[in-house]
Amino acid sequence: MRRAIALSEESVRTGGGPFGAVIAKDGEIVAEASNSVTIDHDPTAHAEVNAIRKAARKLGTFDLEGCEIYTSCEPCPMCLGAIYWAHLGRIYYANDRKDAARIGFDDDFIYKEIALKPEERHKQMQILLPEEAKEAFQMWESSSEKTEY
Ligand SMILES: [Zn+2]
Repeated sequence: MRRAIALSEESVRTGGGPFGAVIAKDGEIVAEASNSVTIDHDPTAHAEVNAIRKAARKLGTFDLEGCEIYTSCEPCPMCLGAIYWAHLGRIYYANDRKDAARIGFDDDFIYKEIALKPEERHKQMQILLPEEAKEAFQMWESSSEKTEY
């Protein structure tokens, strides 16, 4: 966690957001990253997502089961989703979503949005062409060559 916190401080000094993350396996660091949203012009380049991408590349797998993540701040909903998709184990965090909201990163707002029914959210959602979109799902379901994840 101290390394994740150090990365978050380094990130502020080098123009990134104040967030750092470390992924470890069996007590050894596999990957570390900081937030690079503004540097990379990438709204998804949060520290946790960057660390997951690095760890997966390094280990040559999309499944990070057996790894843990240390992040300087409670993961936002996007990163929490990525952590689930990556099958990471335990999540350790230092600052929480309320601390983040106090300095202008309102993850808490997105958490609240997710809890609402789609029609109650600020972002409007509409179903389009569901029957046409089913084709890929049927292809996937009947494929014997797919790699499940
Ligand atoms: Zn995030």
